[in-house]
Amino acid sequence: MSLGIIGSNLWHATSKNLLKTNRINKDKSVDVVVIGGGYTGVSCALRLAEKGSSVLLLEAEHIGDGGSGRNVGLVNSGLWMEPDKVEKMLGKVAGTKLNSMLARGPEFVFTNIEKYKIDCELTQTGTLHCAHSNAGLENLKERLRQYQSRDLKVDLLSQAETEHKLGTPIYKGALHLRDAGTIQPLAYLRGLACAAVSAGASIHQRTPVTAIERINETWEIKTSEHIIKTEAVILATNAYHKSLLVSAAPIYTPLHYFQTATKPLEESLLKKIIPEQQGCWDTAMIMSSLRRDQAGRLILGAVGSLDLPSGHIHYNWAQRRLNKLYPCLNDIEFEHAWHGRIAYSNDHLPHIVEFGPNAISIFGYSGRGIAPGTVFGSAAAEYILSGDLAFLPITPVKSYTEKFTRIKGAFYEFGATAFHGTTSIF
Ligand SMILES: Cc1cc2nc3c(=O)[nH]c(=O)nc-3n(C[C@H](O)[C@H](O)[C@H](O)COP(=O)(O)OP(=O)(O)OC[C@H]3O[C@@H](n4cnc5c(N)ncnc54)[C@H](O)[C@@H]3O)c2cc1C
Repeated sequence: MSLGIIGSNLWHATSKNLLKTNRINKDKSVDVVVIGGGYTGVSCALRLAEKGSSVLLLEAEHIGDGGSGRNVGLVNSGLWMEPDKVEKMLGKVAGTKLNSMLARGPEFVFTNIEKYKIDCELTQTGTLHCAHSNAGLENLKERLRQYQSRDLKVDLLSQAETEHKLGTPIYKGALHLRDAGTIQPLAYLRGLACAAVSAGASIHQRTPVTAIERINETWEIKTSEHIIKTEAVILATNAYHKSLLVSAAPIYTPLHYFQTATKPLEESLLKKIIPEQQGCWDTAMIMSSLRRDQAGRLILGAVGSLDLPSGHIHYNWAQRRLNKLYPCLNDIEFEHAWHGRIAYSNDHLPHIVEFGPNAISIFGYSGRGIAPGTVFGSAAAEYILSGDLAFLPITPVKSYTEKFTRIKGAFYEFGATAFHGTTSIF
């Protein structure tokens, strides 16, 4: 195992659209403060700035340090959960609203990319949800029924058709979600951040917020050196929340997901291996994913953390799996390996907590946050400007809690490690 490459995030190595920002040098007063520089926070800041608000975004590390700079880059519509389940859990009216706002999520992302001319390796050949077993195929058939009843562009591919798209025979079939696509996730985020700055937003990196206080009907947002007074605050820190004790801090079960990337493959291999460049993931309980980047690297991901002592088990499994999927790669080594933390919620739904006047916290995308984060961020901006709840995809609650999140997170990691320690490649 080449330990040296752990922590080498491909997206950081290949992202363009660098964003340079200054430190805050004095106390300030603005209309809105956004905390967290991922899709949610940046999309919110962009919308607010375009609508003429003075908005200041504070990011503890750098734009994309959280899930938005670490993910697989699959731009899918909806949530992980089937749309029927969403409607069952939220009720017909609220569920239909959330489903239909998120069904248009990929279109919203692709429009942003076009509008702001973001160079982010966009592919629009769809994504493939692949059946790892007969039970997985049955689940895909049910999803097909639900998606088609909502007019999503989707086809069920046979085993042979799936093999043709992927260049490996191991899947029983796949759902081809034709509205979806892939991006270089960090490049997309940085492009959005550049657009936000052009629209007038102030972004400050390496500036953790340490306190949020309500004083004399104004919010005071504190960093280690300065205080920013504001009318409204959006907390968009999700699974990477840090340094800040606040009642509306995200509550979630941490689920780790790692990715490995090869060097760019030769042209002859690229003609066989995912030639149309769809992003893929599967129906297995310990899920895995597969995609290419623009340079022709193959990127394989699965549940698990590379940081823990069990990291080498996940890494070795990825190597075995790649060999099984594509023997023609001849034991190719990985050049990048990194992981990220997913904010998994009990009900697999995102949550909005309203923790005071004009103050909301948004979190819990449960592994599908590229399009949803962009949609929720923009919707939060509209809500803050208008006070109209209709803009929000879900109704805010006053408080939210879950129990045993750390234990559940450890259980998922243990399960993934036990599974990756076996000889199975699913
Ligand atoms: C490995 C992985 C793979 C995934 N794959 C996909 C995928 O293929 N498709 C998909 O749709 N979704 C995917 N997701 C989910 C998606 O990436 C996330 O849901 C999304 O990025 C969340 O965005 P966010 O803006 O809410 O939070 P984040 O991107 O996590 O941003 C939160 C930011 O807040 C900052 N912050 C924290 N505390 C403070 C503070 N006190 N002060 C200031 N700033 C602070 C953090 O530094 C961080 O940058 C994946 C996630 C992971 C981890």
